Amino acid sequence: MLNSKIPAGNLEKKWEDYKGHCKLVNPANKRKLEVIVVGTGLAGASAAASLGELGYKVKAFCFQDSPRRAHSIAAQGGINAAKNYQNDGDSVFRLFYDTIKGGDYRAREANVHRLAEVSVNIIDQCVAQGVPFAREYGGLLSNRSFGGTQVQRTFYAAGQTGQQLLIGAYQALERQVALGNVKMYSRHEMLEVVKIDGKARGIIARDLVSGNLEKHFGHAVLLCTGGYGNVFYLSTNAMGSNVTAAWKAHRQGALFSNPCFTQIHPTCIPVSGDHQSKLTLMSESLRNDGRIWVPKNLNETRKAVDIPEEERDYYLERRYPAFGNLVPRDVASRAAKERCDAGYGVGTSKQAVYLDYAAAILRYGKIEAGKQGLENVSQEAIIAMGKEVVKEKYGNLFDMYAKITGEDPYEVPMRIYPAVHYTMGGLWVDYELQTTVPGLYALGEANFSEHGANRLGASALMQGLADGYFVIPYTIGNYLADEIYSKGVDTNHPAFEEAEKTVRERIEKLMSIKGTQTVESFHKRLGKIIWDKCGMARNAEGLKQAIAEVQALKKEFWSDVRIPGEINEMNPELDKANRVADFIELGELMCIDALNRNESCGGHFREEYQTEDGEALRDDENFMYVASWEFKGEHNWELHKEELKYEVIKPSQRNYK
Ligand SMILES: Cc1cc2nc3c(=O)[nH]c(=O)nc-3n(C[C@H](O)[C@H](O)[C@H](O)COP(=O)(O)OP(=O)(O)OC[C@H]3O[C@@H](n4cnc5c(N)ncnc54)[C@H](O)[C@@H]3O)c2cc1C
Repeated sequence: MLNSKIPAGNLEKKWEDYKGHCKLVNPANKRKLEVIVVGTGLAGASAAASLGELGYKVKAFCFQDSPRRAHSIAAQGGINAAKNYQNDGDSVFRLFYDTIKGGDYRAREANVHRLAEVSVNIIDQCVAQGVPFAREYGGLLSNRSFGGTQVQRTFYAAGQTGQQLLIGAYQALERQVALGNVKMYSRHEMLEVVKIDGKARGIIARDLVSGNLEKHFGHAVLLCTGGYGNVFYLSTNAMGSNVTAAWKAHRQGALFSNPCFTQIHPTCIPVSGDHQSKLTLMSESLRNDGRIWVPKNLNETRKAVDIPEEERDYYLERRYPAFGNLVPRDVASRAAKERCDAGYGVGTSKQAVYLDYAAAILRYGKIEAGKQGLENVSQEAIIAMGKEVVKEKYGNLFDMYAKITGEDPYEVPMRIYPAVHYTMGGLWVDYELQTTVPGLYALGEANFSEHGANRLGASALMQGLADGYFVIPYTIGNYLADEIYSKGVDTNHPAFEEAEKTVRERIEKLMSIKGTQTVESFHKRLGKIIWDKCGMARNAEGLKQAIAEVQALKKEFWSDVRIPGEINEMNPELDKANRVADFIELGELMCIDALNRNESCGGHFREEYQTEDGEALRDDENFMYVASWEFKGEHNWELHKEELKYEVIKPSQRNYK
């Protein structure tokens, strides 16, 4: 039975009560307690900096050459917070409500409410650090809208919000490094969790430059290792993002929850060919002002600009008048797929829809003319002024699009199509962010919590920073208060030796295969299976086939992969092989999970379960639970269900009409 440790009492009082009653560790004891933080993206950097500042002895690890290269730096559009600066009806409750509804009623109420509560502190914290959020002319922080909401609560720094937030967290981290409270291990990859008497007590890490294995002790271990969208091969994630740390924890007893809940983002640059290894996101912020459409005629051959207004189908505005282009990502993605499948797609592949800024340019141009008191302004002048406004708001995104596609989005509509973007599934954690292994925590995208079956835009940065700056500093104390008597364990302890041996043997086994196929080719094949059969739409038949195909791929990988180079040197192919081997196992579990969930919810769309108008059809009676899987050996998992109880919000069919 999973114990989520949700505090008793009224929803809005739970976190306050928890903070008032959790155990504390006094400063002298904090100095004796060692904490390992794996990952220094937004979740990890904020956690390591906060714990260092509190006085714990922290060791932080990342596989990049600098924490500043974590995938978080790619985040573009913004970060949500219930500040209600716009006075447009926002509140903590509304952010909580939107997130629960956006996740299609598959997230825990208590965690989500806490997230909404601390969202307001995050903005203050980041402003204090000097994060240059966009401001209005008068100096007030500016906001825009993201999908699934009717208020403007998204704070942003042009199209580089993640970068600015990460620099803030990185500065805080580096300050603690300089003070000696945090020791940073860059270019180190965690390859095993060390457990002693059932508790997490350290990790085995590989120095990616020398290839040496290292043993590190910690009274607690935090995994802040990001999401696993790259299991699909093609995704918007950074190329290095992987599941290995979470997967090692899973194999050591940490349950893995809702692995099939993947977010497919509606506004990405479409796949252009077979030789691509990366997809590019066009931020959701573009849906604030851009209008999405396809031609009304089948087999349309005219250029977008030659298609008259009345022959365009603004299908999101047509189907969802209340939210229009700002419906949540799962809804927008499915709607795009539906139009393309029906034959209305655009571009040479016909697997794209238009994202059009012509109307926004005109609108902004007219406002500018009005602001400047200009009369009888020509259409050209209005358009020129409108373009300047759009450039200021979205310039870097437009430049990126132009560079990749060779088309000028100020002149012609962008072409976009859904792509894999984020993973809602991850390690199961309780209210304290602790996994089912005592002393082992998961933060940020690496855990499953908060976003249910579909994450709303701008909520990942909020969650990562909430976990690192505001939640873990309390909850880890509640655990470490009982550890003040436990001395550090010598890394010659047999458990460390054993874990190191396991890692060494696996690496040696990989290197000894000396087969004929590249790691990349296996990854690509895995991605195709998972995308085709466990992607934007799934069905039982396809999932069963996918499970068999992934099992066969695993066999082939372990008998025919070829890894050039040596073990004791910098060998990125070996690093990748380790990661792809774990992706293959995860891929199997994703399909098992998707097959088990005989309903549609959020990003999990089982074709057998849909409403008459093609929306996701939930089955609350049978599937109102977090599916948490226990690893039981090769191809074998046991399902544990955490029942979700809605005490404040009444689940209903999601409606954005
Ligand atoms: C293109 C793009 C744009 C986005 N824009 C937004 C946005 O505007 N707003 C929003 O809210 N969200 C956005 N997201 C989502 C958001 O960026 C991520 O969910 C979030 O940054 C994840 O942060 P994290 O700290 O959990 O993990 P990451 O930033 O992925 O960091 C993972 C860390 O773990 C380390 N690591 C991983 N495995 C190991 C290992 N085995 N050993 C050692 N270290 C390891 C890595 O080195 C890294 O430091 C976007 C995502 C993408 C792909």
